[in-house]
Amino acid sequence: MSTDTQTDELWERLQQFVGNSNGEPGEARDPVNVPMIRHLTDALEDTNPVYTDEEAALASVHGGIVAPATSLQVWTMAGLVPGGRRRGSGVGPDPMTLVDEAGYVGVVATNCDQTYHRYLRPGDVLSVSSTLESISPLKKTALGEGYFFTTLQTYTDQKGEVVGEMRFRILKFKPANTPAKKEEATPAAPAAQQPPVPIDVAFFWEGVDAGELRIQRCGGCGTLRHPPRPMCPNCRSLEHDYVVSSGLGTVYSFVVHHHPPVPGRQMPFTVAVVELDEGTRIVGNVIDIDPSEVTVGLPVEVAFVANEAGRVLPQWRPRA
Ligand SMILES: [Zn+2]
Repeated sequence: MSTDTQTDELWERLQQFVGNSNGEPGEARDPVNVPMIRHLTDALEDTNPVYTDEEAALASVHGGIVAPATSLQVWTMAGLVPGGRRRGSGVGPDPMTLVDEAGYVGVVATNCDQTYHRYLRPGDVLSVSSTLESISPLKKTALGEGYFFTTLQTYTDQKGEVVGEMRFRILKFKPANTPAKKEEATPAAPAAQQPPVPIDVAFFWEGVDAGELRIQRCGGCGTLRHPPRPMCPNCRSLEHDYVVSSGLGTVYSFVVHHHPPVPGRQMPFTVAVVELDEGTRIVGNVIDIDPSEVTVGLPVEVAFVANEAGRVLPQWRPRA
């Protein structure tokens, strides 16, 4: 009951911020420009010439180069400069600090809706202003209880005309597994991780239990692949069975893991990509050899050896 009262009070305190804007609109550091559009469309792999080719753009319905509509938010971004992203006005509490202090320290973006009123063109100088549109009552979510904050960003051009809007929603939540006391946060010595066994991979682990190294084979073209997956990257076939590998291969590449600590493991240990004689590769530990003596090309054979948690894994040792 006291918890409910507290959160109600918090929500009521938060309501005073609804409708607040972040002050003067922030102006973009640069006008909309073709080099930046080119970087964007390269990253998006969007080859539409209306974004970068003057001649093609002139002949299009746009009559000239335009920026991709989805670049709306890009132009007014603060950039990765120290102090470039400030929060709050510095005058009194801001709503984010209030919820943080109440323990709602988690944050996750949940929605982003953009509205475009016109295409942006090179030379446009955008400004953005931000208004806190709403804060939801306390909601139960899978992540934990929290408040949804919805912010409306309004983008205007050099004439002050609105060119677009963005509604952005975040959930500020109290992580469901937050320990009540510091002591509870101290973990017990962790056990070694166990491999997950999804249905597509079950045949592999059943093979391991039977002392077989089973490698998936495409039912269409016969290509071997590992780790197992539903579709052949070579011919797109969804058909597959498996072959039992000879368990012989060579070290194709390897790393010696010194740090960070891995639960249940003794440092250092060697992890190798082993090229199987059958012609596909598999990752595994190299055992029974000092890490400093492992080399690329080292002939190895599979060994079904239990890890520290008792799970038998296909591991690799130098061939006798
Ligand atoms: Zn295939």
